[in-house]
Amino acid sequence: MIPAALTPPHATPAPRWQQLWRDAVRDPRELLAMLGLDAAASGMSDAAAAQFALRVPRGFVARMRAGDPGDPLLRQVLPLDAEMQPTPGFALDAVGDTLARAGQGVIRKYRGRALLVATGSCAVNCRYCFRRHFPYGEETAAAAGWREAVGLIAADPSIDEVILSGGDPWSLSTPKLAELTDALAGVPHLRRLRVHTRLPVVLPERVDEALVAWLRALPWPVTVVLHANHANEFDDTVDAALARLRAAGATLLNQAVLLRGVNDSVDALAALSERGFAAGVLPYYLHQLDRVQGAAHFEVDDATARELHRALAARLSGYLVPRLVREVAGDPGKRPL
Ligand SMILES: *Cc1c(COP(=O)(O)O)cnc(C)c1O
Ligand code: SF4
Repeated sequence: MIPAALTPPHATPAPRWQQLWRDAVRDPRELLAMLGLDAAASGMSDAAAAQFALRVPRGFVARMRAGDPGDPLLRQVLPLDAEMQPTPGFALDAVGDTLARAGQGVIRKYRGRALLVATGSCAVNCRYCFRRHFPYGEETAAAAGWREAVGLIAADPSIDEVILSGGDPWSLSTPKLAELTDALAGVPHLRRLRVHTRLPVVLPERVDEALVAWLRALPWPVTVVLHANHANEFDDTVDAALARLRAAGATLLNQAVLLRGVNDSVDALAALSERGFAAGVLPYYLHQLDRVQGAAHFEVDDATARELHRALAARLSGYLVPRLVREVAGDPGKRPL
């Protein structure tokens, strides 16, 4: 992709996915222009973009409907005026992760499981995300060669599952991931590895040969928990990436966030489950929004959420119905609604 003249003579070219990553759309006006939308009429806010930047890979933009300011994919990424309204009850550390910190980038909240905040980076900036406020920087497990995280996990035989989260753990290079899993391979009590990632959906090129080879070589069963909120997020490129993950032996699950104006209808939720299943993905969680400042306009009240979930269960096969949950600071697990 990079013209030969720009590549230093002896440098290894970056993997294609990293080039696509860097080429993401970051200017809200460019995004709106690509979709034939008027900046003034869209509710777009420069102040919101200054607080938490727009970032969206071009392949994801290609799945948006041109000319539709209410497009469910656009709504997830476009900085809006509504984000700037301070809302009581919406906080900066919405899920209490600061309290559950066990070491650099390590969160111990649930029995048997250690969650690693592997990195603060993501290929897409989702407007409803707690990440818009989380003080990352040095607080990631990968920072010092994973040493503190691996030490904590190795010293605690009650941990049998490691969850890579973030940010997006697959935004790390494949060699950086291998550095972690090579170190963890020496920990006898580990039984499972889980990866929470939105990259196969928003930048499916990330699932390249090197990542698949890394997956195949892991000594544990691997579960990949994807994050898609709407059926339109799937296309041929995503289907192909998910097929590669499945061929490498990964179990694929999806977690979604219930978002007003994106997926708050039985039709949208049913289509999401059915489209995911067609790509080999089972629904896992449907989250009530984390109450972070700037996300209040996405919130669906609990009564409506329960009603939607009941109607979904009445319509779909049981295995296509995700668990409706909320994250509550200090709880030993996600709390069913
Ligand atoms: C969600 C979460 C987990 C995993 O919970 P499951 O119910 O097993 O999916 C683990 N640790 C933290 C900190 C979490 O937020
Ligand atoms: S952590 Fe997930 S939800 Fe948050 S911005 Fe990154 S991809 Fe989006």
